[in-house]
Amino acid sequence: MPQFNGLINSKLPSVGTTIFSVMSKMAAEHNAINLSQGFPDFSCSDELVRLVHENMKAGNNQYAPMPGILPLREQIAAMVGDLYGTHYHPDTEITITAGATQAIYTAISALVREGDEVVIFEPAYDCYSPAIEMSGGKPIYIQLKFPDYSIDWSAVKKVLNHRTRMIIINTPHNPSGSVLSANDMKELEKLTNKTDIIILSDEVYEHMSFDGQLHQSVARYKNLAERSFLVSSFGKTVHTTGWKMAYIAAPANLMAEFRKVHQYLVFSCNTPMQYALAEFLKNKDNYLELKHFYQAKRDKFVRLIHNSRFTYQPCSGTYFQLLKYDTICSEKDTDFAIRLTKEYGIASIPLSVFYHKPIDNKVLRFCFAKKDETLERAAEVICKISPEYAKP
Ligand code: PMP
Ligand code: GLN
Repeated sequence: MPQFNGLINSKLPSVGTTIFSVMSKMAAEHNAINLSQGFPDFSCSDELVRLVHENMKAGNNQYAPMPGILPLREQIAAMVGDLYGTHYHPDTEITITAGATQAIYTAISALVREGDEVVIFEPAYDCYSPAIEMSGGKPIYIQLKFPDYSIDWSAVKKVLNHRTRMIIINTPHNPSGSVLSANDMKELEKLTNKTDIIILSDEVYEHMSFDGQLHQSVARYKNLAERSFLVSSFGKTVHTTGWKMAYIAAPANLMAEFRKVHQYLVFSCNTPMQYALAEFLKNKDNYLELKHFYQAKRDKFVRLIHNSRFTYQPCSGTYFQLLKYDTICSEKDTDFAIRLTKEYGIASIPLSVFYHKPIDNKVLRFCFAKKDETLERAAEVICKISPEYAKP
């Protein structure tokens, strides 16, 4: 095919292919165990699949209403209300989206204008800054403290000004596995009180906080909830990342702006899956058990790799475990991740790619949303990684 001959003038000149696609492709090419991109290698519930099938057979195959089917929005209102104490009105304050990625992109497009500043914390999930830049906004990067990946609120205070339109928080946090505390939320409340700052709270791992820690949703705090978009993903909650189904909740005036964009970006989302989720989530165990399920996976994984040469702190949430390898070699994390994939047959994600200017703390992220047998095979490989072998 001949190439376009005119001027393209890329809107995102420094953006390439996401690390998740790069590492998953490399894992497949080298037949490596794929603990890189975050997705389960086990099935979702048979009951959920049956519900989707039944709804397809029952003829629920045409456009859903623009904000999503009402039974699912009602179910979300009930779940969020029960868990966090804020009642979102299903009619005006909850919208079903095609994954959290679309919810995040849409919220940013709807609210961020040319010249607006948006505070994001690094290492940051990779879809935030391209969305900000596409809206003409400027990402303002604050680095999380190493090695616990906590927020330095005095640094946040220093960057806030009249151009600050939005702060994006993410708890439990991808890629670090850290979680925000009640004290963090109080700090956020103090800094945003009496400002026009909107909070975009990425809570896709809302049901995956471990060791008895409460998930700190913005919906637990009235003063935060009234200026926030809360985003969650059914991909994580019911093990269906390939369905790209999520929800966003916000006060009616923010949601009205969101829907102005949503209706022209996707209009509405997959109908039979919405009916199936509405039914499936009536059983509270289907989301409340998740933290126990993944905590057991985390515990198993760290137990299995305990005698490896990596060092770690067990993660506090998400399905990602960070492993530090400075005791093994001093190679760049991107090079080391590639070599582990090609030479050892295990794929991970290097942390430096989540910074706008790479910071290499010699840390790799491993996804433990895997069958026990996969974790066992992975741990066997991880335990073999040694300084001798690791030398370039
Ligand atoms: N935010 C975070 C922190 C994520 O880890 C992910 C992806 N897993 C998303 C957003 C996007 O979620 P979805 O797959 O529902 O688009
Ligand atoms: N959220 C997943 C991760 O962090 C990947 C999602 C994607 O591939 N876009 O690994």
